[in-house]
Amino acid sequence: RHLDRIAEVDDRVHAFLHVDPEGALAQAAESDARRARGEARGALDGVPIAVKDVLATRGLPTTCGSKILEGWIPPYDATVVTRLREAGLPILGKTNMDEFAMGSSTEYSAYGPTRNPWDLDRIPGGSGGGSAAAVAAFEAPLAIGTDTGGSIRQPGAVTGTVGVKPTYGGVSRYGLVALANSLDQAGPVTRTVLDSAMLHDVIGGHDPRDSTSIDQEWPSFTDAATAGATGDMTGVKVGVITELAGDGWQPGVMARFQDSVDLLVKAGAEVVEVSCPSFVHALAAYYLILPAEASSNLAKFDAMRYGLRVTPEGSPSAEDVMRATRDAGFGDEVKRRIILGTYALSSGYYDAYYGQAQKIRTLISRDFDAAFGQVDVLVSPTAPTTAFKLGEKLDDPIAMYLNDLATIPANLAGVPGISVPNGLADEDGLPSGLQVLAPALADDRVYRVGAAVE
Ligand code: GLN
Repeated sequence: RHLDRIAEVDDRVHAFLHVDPEGALAQAAESDARRARGEARGALDGVPIAVKDVLATRGLPTTCGSKILEGWIPPYDATVVTRLREAGLPILGKTNMDEFAMGSSTEYSAYGPTRNPWDLDRIPGGSGGGSAAAVAAFEAPLAIGTDTGGSIRQPGAVTGTVGVKPTYGGVSRYGLVALANSLDQAGPVTRTVLDSAMLHDVIGGHDPRDSTSIDQEWPSFTDAATAGATGDMTGVKVGVITELAGDGWQPGVMARFQDSVDLLVKAGAEVVEVSCPSFVHALAAYYLILPAEASSNLAKFDAMRYGLRVTPEGSPSAEDVMRATRDAGFGDEVKRRIILGTYALSSGYYDAYYGQAQKIRTLISRDFDAAFGQVDVLVSPTAPTTAFKLGEKLDDPIAMYLNDLATIPANLAGVPGISVPNGLADEDGLPSGLQVLAPALADDRVYRVGAAVE
């Protein structure tokens, strides 16, 4: 039925870059057979899923939304994908994204934008707009996204879906084509908090193939979401982040946020204001650290190893081929960040830019430490606005970056966060989201509180 739905709506939504009907049906048939024998591998055995095109899938194209990877078929699965297969989830296909996950609207995909199912003239958020739109348009019940600076949570907010960025190290990055290694985390995109929790239980946990993977036992997030669904928040202390509200925030988004806070109070939570003064510098630090890491990661696309190769006329040198391939294969935003990143890392400027940004990163972690000394979770709106119109911010990269204001601090500090739909803004009738952040390793709290306010 989901494949039928994709056939029916995806020419308009364009959530998918690649659909794999045969593979998905074969996996579904195996799942049916297991269920008939009473050997289902868990509650999600047979539930189809869409996967963001930044995760390697054996035998299925993986483009990262870029022309430079056109035609590349990975010979291996990302660990997240292996775990999905082992748990019996049929993979419907690969979802659209901003090129190499750089963007907040999915308009930087080299394969054309995804549209927001709520209003096809609007963006579905980014970079994981494809995964969020697929879930919002009922093309997939579950999806996987990746969140380096909000790319799961912000698309969740603007499409009315649930999105979770786990604690850094909670979900394996093996086979996730790196944008910024110190910030990237894969996570669930779903329609309910319980669905996200169940999916997190499947994909999370230690992986020896990722050196930053945390080696510990995690509690059941399914249990945490189930406990939260009773709606009792007695004894839970919630901090409203002073810096993530006010001028520049859409009034309808702020009104829904206030509703969420009122709901928490009614559920018995104690709500206080908490200041995180360094958060106002998060965006500036992120847009130096991320390009620095990305410029290094993207060096491997050298026309020799993967996908596209453009050979100029005459007798070109290896360097000529590399230059022509990278010129044709990368889009403007990717080139912009490579230039920014190599500049920030160059020896004369290292202390002025990258060094400063790393110091701000430390201050942001300290803000979180201080805040979590006082409260159990922090809340804010997930994004400052509802979905904007396609094209609206395309010529203004800074305006596009500003949409990540509320989501980026969590990536810089490695803490977990969820975006839960909290209603529609009055002025445009479009979804907004509540962000709940918890200390590193306490992902269970985002599920508990998320399920209580859902
Ligand atoms: N908007 C962020 C950026 O452009 C999103 C990054 C991400 O989470 N993949 O960098």
